[in-house]
Amino acid sequence: MTENLFYIGYVTHLITMHWADVIAKEVADTCDHPLIATGISPTGIIHVGSLREAITGESVRSAVEGLGKDVKLIYLVDSFDPLRKCYDFLPKEYEKYVGMPISRIPCPCGKHKNYAQHFVQPFLDAVDSLGVKCEIIWTHELYDKGEFAEAIDLTFKKRQQVIDILHDVSGKEANPNYAPYNPVCEKCGRFTNPVFESYKYPYVEYDCSCGHHGKADITKGDGKLTWRCEWPAKWAIFGTSAEPFGKDHAAAGGSYDTGKRISREIYGVEPPIPIPYEFVQLKGVGQMHKSLGCSVTGLDAINMTPPEVLNYLFLRVNPNKAIDYDSGLGMLDMADEYDRMERAFFSAEFTEAEENSVRAYEISQHNHVPVKQPHQIPYRHLVNVVQMADTFEGVMGVLERTEDFSTVSADDLKRLERRVNCVRFWLNGFAPDSVKFCVCQTAPPGLELGITGKVFFKDLVNRMNDCVWDASTINSIISDTGKESPLGSKGAFKAIYSVLIGKTAGPRLGPFLASMDKSFVINRFIQVSQ
Ligand SMILES: [Zn+2]
Ligand SMILES: [Zn+2]
Repeated sequence: MTENLFYIGYVTHLITMHWADVIAKEVADTCDHPLIATGISPTGIIHVGSLREAITGESVRSAVEGLGKDVKLIYLVDSFDPLRKCYDFLPKEYEKYVGMPISRIPCPCGKHKNYAQHFVQPFLDAVDSLGVKCEIIWTHELYDKGEFAEAIDLTFKKRQQVIDILHDVSGKEANPNYAPYNPVCEKCGRFTNPVFESYKYPYVEYDCSCGHHGKADITKGDGKLTWRCEWPAKWAIFGTSAEPFGKDHAAAGGSYDTGKRISREIYGVEPPIPIPYEFVQLKGVGQMHKSLGCSVTGLDAINMTPPEVLNYLFLRVNPNKAIDYDSGLGMLDMADEYDRMERAFFSAEFTEAEENSVRAYEISQHNHVPVKQPHQIPYRHLVNVVQMADTFEGVMGVLERTEDFSTVSADDLKRLERRVNCVRFWLNGFAPDSVKFCVCQTAPPGLELGITGKVFFKDLVNRMNDCVWDASTINSIISDTGKESPLGSKGAFKAIYSVLIGKTAGPRLGPFLASMDKSFVINRFIQVSQ
């Protein structure tokens, strides 16, 4: 433990502070009981950008906690937003729900409380697996409980001021009919416009386009503030200290700019420290959701990327820099880099250029840095091994041929199992064909090795029969035998792939064969040499 603390001390005394530490310090210096807010609009498919928001929020939370502050992270689900259109991924009959709050629309699968929960719950469950410690708050419940009533009341009373602020800040023409609050029509269930002059706390009347004239109670879930007023109203309700949000909200004249003035001048509270983040660009080819107009969803990213790697990915660069999320071969590079920084952290050996990434590794543990370095298995090797067994036990059986597990901890095994699951998910939907293979249980039919090939395998069997079954021995036998054969080294490798996996290329042969049962391999070679 003390050894570990030494490293924490070492890494935090950097010349250039990590961005999360910079923000954390500002938050800790200015707030007694800091609250970090993040949010999500679950109107449809949840994008990888939402992950960036959740992880950025959690990273700042844990960095503030690391400074000894009592800090809280909340995750606001915008469950009272209207359904804006009948998206392609929805059944046609959802047309009739357009304009209604998503908390009041039935869930498409029948297993959730409502539309909002249907889309956001799997994501929330997955975010939990990333170690994000947050309180989930459903906006529609805040409205139901009257939490917004004070802000709505102020917005009605100072409506002209709100209109002036929006005009001043956004530069757009002032709209005298601007409605900062929209009642939900009790007849048709859709958001509609209020009759401003009728407002008398807590009621406002409305004339809906469906023909219904009604009265909304602002202390109940009878209506909602528009986004530009709702956002600062949330700051007032929660006393938000800092909040990450997409850069679109941070543009000049955008909703953070107007929110800043509305929170000060209408609600009388200070706006949070802004943490605008850049978008996440998707690379690689996903074959799963062409119909959604999106190749990789936030949930996919969680399912295919080990949580520790995903946390690290969003921490190693400043939020104002774009991130490429590569669901192709880049996935392997990401995992490799994480493992390398983990080794650097525990050995305390790294260059100045790596300082920031090592600190990113440390923060990505959310104040639960392992006491000793976790057992690592090269990710690329794991990708191969996962294709050699159907179950985790099977994978362990293969790994045990080459790995010593005598000192691994229960946490190491848990991490390994998570990684195996991620690799499998990745292989099933996103991995390029070049990394995929399947060990043929019998010699592939129609194999034409010719006399040269047969002799090569005979020689190979002679040399392998009594050899030590490890990667480097296997590798040198193959390359020596290949060189002595007219096949040459290259031809030798190709021949071996063709008899084992029916392809001309595949995983690195040394570790690959060492991971297989020796007699299985030798029997195959004998079979094809006859
Ligand atoms: Zn559902
Ligand atoms: Zn209506």
